[in-house]
Amino acid sequence: MQTSDETLQGWGGTRAAGIEIRSDDLPSITRGAVLTRGLGRSYGDSALPPPGTHQIPGCALADRILSFDSSTGVLRAEAGLSIEEIQRVFLPRNWSFPVLPGTQFVTLGGAVGADIHGKNHHIDGTIGNHINEMLLRLADDSLIRCSRKENDDLFRATLGGMGLTGHILEVEVTLKRIPSPWIWAESERVTGIDAFIEALADAARSWPYTAGWMDALVRGDNLGRGILIRGRWAGASEAPARPPRPKRRLSVPFTFPGWVLNSLSVRAFNNFYFHKHPRRAKRGIAHPESFFHPLDVVRRWNLIYGRRGFTQHQCVLPEKERPGATKRYLEALTAGGLGSFLCVIKDCGSEGEGLLSFPRPGISIAVDLPMRARTQEIVNELNERVLEAGGRIYLAKDALSSAEHFQAMESRLEEFQAVRRRWDPEGRLRSAQSVRLLGDPA
Ligand SMILES: Cc1cc2nc3c(=O)[nH]c(=O)nc-3n(C[C@H](O)[C@H](O)[C@H](O)COP(=O)(O)OP(=O)(O)OC[C@H]3O[C@@H](n4cnc5c(N)ncnc54)[C@H](O)[C@@H]3O)c2cc1C
Repeated sequence: MQTSDETLQGWGGTRAAGIEIRSDDLPSITRGAVLTRGLGRSYGDSALPPPGTHQIPGCALADRILSFDSSTGVLRAEAGLSIEEIQRVFLPRNWSFPVLPGTQFVTLGGAVGADIHGKNHHIDGTIGNHINEMLLRLADDSLIRCSRKENDDLFRATLGGMGLTGHILEVEVTLKRIPSPWIWAESERVTGIDAFIEALADAARSWPYTAGWMDALVRGDNLGRGILIRGRWAGASEAPARPPRPKRRLSVPFTFPGWVLNSLSVRAFNNFYFHKHPRRAKRGIAHPESFFHPLDVVRRWNLIYGRRGFTQHQCVLPEKERPGATKRYLEALTAGGLGSFLCVIKDCGSEGEGLLSFPRPGISIAVDLPMRARTQEIVNELNERVLEAGGRIYLAKDALSSAEHFQAMESRLEEFQAVRRRWDPEGRLRSAQSVRLLGDPA
């Protein structure tokens, strides 16, 4: 059993007093607990305990593979198994986790809790679409299975339910069969936001994986310029014969001083990154880690934001219903003047089954924002744009939204809360985020 120190943090640096208890005996440590934590890759307070709770279980050491059927790809495992480990074991056997987020340091429990999406959302949906069954510990400590056939309301509320419906002990997921463990990737420069939205839609027609990086500091005609990325699993005949080996990783050695990241340095980085890409499209075989998880190459990269940390604002804007929403969002962002060197754009497919699943058809934008005096004001402003457009924000990234904004965006909230009341009538399962956004008692 391991315990961390006395403060728990989200990936962006949001802190709460408390300790995480890790053990490979997840059924024991979740007994009586109010929330379970994975690898802490959610940015804000979704994996932090509510005020007054000192200790929460962490599932990362409960990472056994329980069964695998090599004819169907059905994998059953404990909730702490990470995507990194699944890819290490299964990629060389021509199977992949079906939905890959921007980092592979994510547990099965965390993937289900946030109902994660990836570059293939427009085709394969969220991870929830690939989950067959789960074993949960409920608030009253009983164990229960849920699936589309059994306790389906609990199943749907748990996908994207941010740990608020029960502790996930085991997950059954169907892996994706792939022709080779390598990626065929293409990338090209795009000159502005209208062109970007069009290029994403165009790529989505023939590519399973699409996304883009945008320069979130330029204004005027260049607003929304960036680099579009598209890819597919390489065919056996185009790929190298050997499976890819894990990339060598660097690590940020200490927390950077706050002044390192300022609008000048971010502007310089964005300019460099955009112009470094050749004018012509780049094509070729890529390592799956570089394609899916480029940020993982630098461990603890979050420390470059300094002690004050950062937040991410990720929203989805239903462009088809209210055209121009993405442009108005970016204009509000650039007017805020904080600058972000990570701004990811993606067109989403259909809404997930999860009652609080984030994606819905539209354009998703994710921007990192350093924590400064103005950050709260900027997040409020961005949320106003999201509300105006009829969009919503991603809970796994959020640290600063108000209950008022979130509840106004989330038409499915009543149904979610009704399921929670049914399975947890005393309201025991809570997080720092559910106290902030859903009005749960502290
Ligand atoms: C660099 C980076 C890139 C990212 N890119 C993407 C992306 O492309 N797409 C995307 O969807 N997300 C993305 N994310 C967010 C990340 O996928 C989610 O935050 C994910 O939930 C993190 O998993 P975790 O194991 O660290 O869980 P944690 O952050 O520890 O927990 C996340 C939530 O799941 C709950 N939870 C965890 N384990 C359990 C369990 N066993 N039982 C019940 N509840 C549990 C927690 O209570 C919490 O509410 C990214 C994050 C980073 C840092």
